[in-house]
Amino acid sequence: MANIKPVTWTETPSSEYPLVERSLHPTGSTVAIGDVAFGGDSFVMIAGPCAVESRDQMDASAALVTKFGARVLRGGAFKPRTSPYSFQGMGFEGIELLQGASRKHGMPFVTEVMSISQVKELEPHVDAFQVGTRNMHNFDLLRALGETGKPVLLKRGFGATLREWLLACEYVAQGGNSQIILCERGIRSFSPETRFTLDLAGAIWAKQETHLPVIVDPSHATGLPQLVGPLVAAAAAAGLDGAMIELHPTPDDALSDGDQALTPQQFEVLMTTLRPIVEAVGRKL
Ligand code: PEP
Ligand code: MN
Repeated sequence: MANIKPVTWTETPSSEYPLVERSLHPTGSTVAIGDVAFGGDSFVMIAGPCAVESRDQMDASAALVTKFGARVLRGGAFKPRTSPYSFQGMGFEGIELLQGASRKHGMPFVTEVMSISQVKELEPHVDAFQVGTRNMHNFDLLRALGETGKPVLLKRGFGATLREWLLACEYVAQGGNSQIILCERGIRSFSPETRFTLDLAGAIWAKQETHLPVIVDPSHATGLPQLVGPLVAAAAAAGLDGAMIELHPTPDDALSDGDQALTPQQFEVLMTTLRPIVEAVGRKL
């Protein structure tokens, strides 16, 4: 294990993505959320609940995230739910709770922005904007985020080709904001057992084709907590830049995505197993 060389990426010339293509920064660029850099010498874990539910839930979640070595907190306050009858998130009150937990536990956070009308109000408060899979094609939103000074975690649309995903980056970058982290979160496939299909090959391709950091989200890709750890490990071994996962202090009480949330114990096992894999490819957690 110790002799495995760090993964390196070769330049792949391309003219279709003039602002994000790899040839602009052949060694790759780093994008920081708060003081946490993606695309550098760390494999960065983002963790937290699907949705912000209460002050206590966020405080307990943030404590777990830091305790086991993840660096960035996640949590949704504006939730894009399949059913309009499902919990839609706490809105701006949720952002305050996220901010409180993140500051108290000394780590930055990322949260989803759902519409162009929220961008200006959220910008001063968030450390990074997340664009969800359902909004990857919302070009007006992408343009508006391109005019902000905050990093954008851009999830791949679950029905989007890799080309469409990279062109979505171009929409953001055109506004002057190239602080983009790509997140592969699973594409629609035909087998309901694993919900979506985590396209690891596509994520690696995006890393080779662009200069941007690329991470994966195996929680939404699979919907199965027992698959989250192995897929995070695979992403780390492949030289990707990090992963975003869902956890909950008590998954049975979660208001959204409780079935896929890791328990505190499962999260601890994941982080403990991951560390030597990350180190074997010459990086740190
Ligand atoms: C999320 O991360 O909370 C989320 C809703 O993810 P996705 O957009 O990938 O479904
Ligand atoms: Mn979720």
